Amino acid sequence: MIETFEKIINTSDFQARSTVLLKRALLAFYQRKLLSIPLLATELGVSIPTAGRLAAILTSNHFVRLIGEGPSGGGRKPRIYQIDEQNWFTLAVDAGREHLRIALFNLNDQKKAESISTLPLESSMQYLEATVSHIKRFLVRHHLKPAQVLGIGFAVPGLINTQTGRSLVHFTGFLRPVNDMLADMTGIPVVMDNDARLMAKGEASFGKAQHAQNAIYLFLDRGVGTGLLVNGEIYKGAHGFAGEFGHTHFVGHENNQCICGQMDCLETYTSLKALEKEAIRMGFNPPATGDAWVNIIEASWRGDKVAMDAIAEIGRRLGLALVNLVHLIDPEIIIIGGSLAMAGNVLTHSIYNTLRESAMHAFREDLRLELSGMGQDACLAGCHAMVMKNFFANV
Ligand SMILES: [Zn+2]
Repeated sequence: MIETFEKIINTSDFQARSTVLLKRALLAFYQRKLLSIPLLATELGVSIPTAGRLAAILTSNHFVRLIGEGPSGGGRKPRIYQIDEQNWFTLAVDAGREHLRIALFNLNDQKKAESISTLPLESSMQYLEATVSHIKRFLVRHHLKPAQVLGIGFAVPGLINTQTGRSLVHFTGFLRPVNDMLADMTGIPVVMDNDARLMAKGEASFGKAQHAQNAIYLFLDRGVGTGLLVNGEIYKGAHGFAGEFGHTHFVGHENNQCICGQMDCLETYTSLKALEKEAIRMGFNPPATGDAWVNIIEASWRGDKVAMDAIAEIGRRLGLALVNLVHLIDPEIIIIGGSLAMAGNVLTHSIYNTLRESAMHAFREDLRLELSGMGQDACLAGCHAMVMKNFFANV
């Protein structure tokens, strides 16, 4: 997205070759949030006058602002600048199966606004047009021009080839990658990734995996999504498909047909549907209407033994499957998100006890197992982090 930066930055008094240097200066401010000119000069390996000139250009383009002067070490007092959070933004667009979420983030990584609309995900041009219309209305409502948005992070469920920008599950009938089409329709650069991987990115950037280098994020809901943090990066694999833990084979004996076409995928034993099936098998009375899993989780909060046992059984299965993954990637933390995370300690205790019984001691000694503290914000924050990473690529 260097072209974008070149387009928006006023470089009239600056050599074109220094645009990269300018972007590196912005990256330094973005990472530190607050910097003096001498510190910026040290960080970039440039002279103090050059650092001052870079900060002045970034100030006139409203990326940073002067907030005052620091204490003097004898000479002139150093000017201190910080990120200007009022002019440039990113948009997170989460195309959920039932709802479209849009969120606005500033350059201080703060979520400033959010909207949620009922818009079931469909692989049609109408869906894409409706999404663009929601994005445009959202921008107007918040008095923003598309030119103020550095990028849109677009989260879509299912397999996504991150090299070609194509989803293998949704929008397959289009001639062009959907992110390119969205970019043309909105006038804003778009980067796309799988939703569970973006949740893991959100946790790794701003949540409980923030200080981890290796982590497993499990999204337990109608399906089972996974994002793997390996050596500080979200692991994507050769085609960008990595992390489909929910479609690994579970050694069960139910002959469950999975939506992916295989039999006995982990997802068919550990999703919300699997919880409903297990609880009913154990004697839980399902409600006449609505989702039984809601009642099961609520009953577990009241101490209902059948509901707690059914949740613990799902936890046991997850623990058994996680033994393989823990032995493969040796994580520091496992984070549980999705609607099933509302089952809380009953679920995590069962997963943890199974891991304690089945995983090698050395792997689980310091292993933390925690519920996500970000909830649905994990995906939106992951979209923002992806846009910022892309914006600063090649710097
Ligand atoms: Zn499957």
